[in-house]
Amino acid sequence: MDIRTGFVGTVGNTPLIRLNSFSDKTGCEILGKAEFLNPGGSVKDRAALYIIEDAEKKGLLKPGGTVVEGTAGNTGIGLAHICNAKGYRCLIIIPETQSQEKIDLLRALGAEVRPVPAVPYRDPNNFVKLSGTIAAEMDNAIWANQFDNPANRLAHYETTGPELWAQTDGRIDAWVSATGTGGTYAGVTQFLKEKNPTLKCVLADPMGSALYHYFKTGEFKSEGNSVTEGIGTSRLTENLNGAPVDEAVQVDDAEMLRVVYQLLRRDGLFMGGSVGINVGAAVAVAKQMGPGHTIVTILCDGGARYQSRLYNPEWLASKGLSVPEL
Ligand code: PMP
Repeated sequence: MDIRTGFVGTVGNTPLIRLNSFSDKTGCEILGKAEFLNPGGSVKDRAALYIIEDAEKKGLLKPGGTVVEGTAGNTGIGLAHICNAKGYRCLIIIPETQSQEKIDLLRALGAEVRPVPAVPYRDPNNFVKLSGTIAAEMDNAIWANQFDNPANRLAHYETTGPELWAQTDGRIDAWVSATGTGGTYAGVTQFLKEKNPTLKCVLADPMGSALYHYFKTGEFKSEGNSVTEGIGTSRLTENLNGAPVDEAVQVDDAEMLRVVYQLLRRDGLFMGGSVGINVGAAVAVAKQMGPGHTIVTILCDGGARYQSRLYNPEWLASKGLSVPEL
C-alpha cells in the first residue's frame, strides 16, 4: 500500500525531473525538483507546514487558533490549505493593489482576506508589519513571518535537501535557486554543503533584485525590473542570513521567457516565472562548468497561476516583452 495521509501527508517527496531539452543541449544533467506537484501547488507548502507545526510544538497555536500572514502569493495558498486540514483559521493581510484574482482565490480556499493600503516596508502600516501587529493583538494566533521565521528554512534543510541527495545518490555538482524569503536556497544549501562542501551553490536572481550585486560586491543595489513574482529582495532576511553563496547569476526577463516557453513547448512543462530564472541560471552554470555535470534546481510552481500574464501576448506586450521565437 502507498497511501499519503491527507493534505499534510502529501506535502513534499516530489519527483526530480530531468529537463530533457536543456540537458541534451548542454551535455549536463539539468534536474528540476517538481515542487509544483505539492498539493497546494508550490514549494511554499513545505514552509507553511513547518511554520504551523513549529508553532504547535511550541504551544503557540492551539486548536481553533488563527494563522496570520502578510502575503499575496504561494505562502498564503499553502497556509490556507493547511489551516483547513488542521482546523485553524487563516487571516491574510494583502496590499489592495493585488489582483482581484488572488484575493478571490484565497477567499475561495477559506481564508479571511483583509486588503490594506499599499505603503513601503519602512511604514508600520506596511502589510507585512501590520500582519505581525494584528497577530500579536489576537488570542491564540501566530504570525507566520515567513521572511524571518527559521522554521521556513528548516523545512528545506530537513526535507527538500535530503530528498535531492537521495534522488541523485549524492551525485550533484551544483545547486541553483532564486530566493524570495531565502528559505529554499538556504535550507537546501546548508544540507548539501554538510554532505559535500565542494558542491557549488548558486543564487539565481531576477533583475530589480539587490541580491546579485550584494553577493558580487557587498552592496545592496538593483538595476532594471522583472515581471517574475515571489522572488528577488532588497534585504538579507533571517532565512537567507549566513547561507554560503559560491556564485550569483542574474537572469533577465527575456531569457526567463525563453526558458519557460522552451519548457512548455519542448519538455511539456507549464511553469511559473521563477522557474524560468532558476533554469536559466542552471543553464548558465552548465555552460561554465562544461558537459558531464549534474545541476539541480527547483520548479517552484506551475504556469496556470500566470496564465493571464506570462502566457498572454497582450499582457507581455504591455510590459515591453514578447512571446519568444524558439
Ligand atoms: N518562486 C515562487 C513562485 C514563490 O512564490 C517563491 C516564494 N516567495 C519562491 C520562488 C522563493 O521561495 P523562497 O521563499 O523559499 O525563497
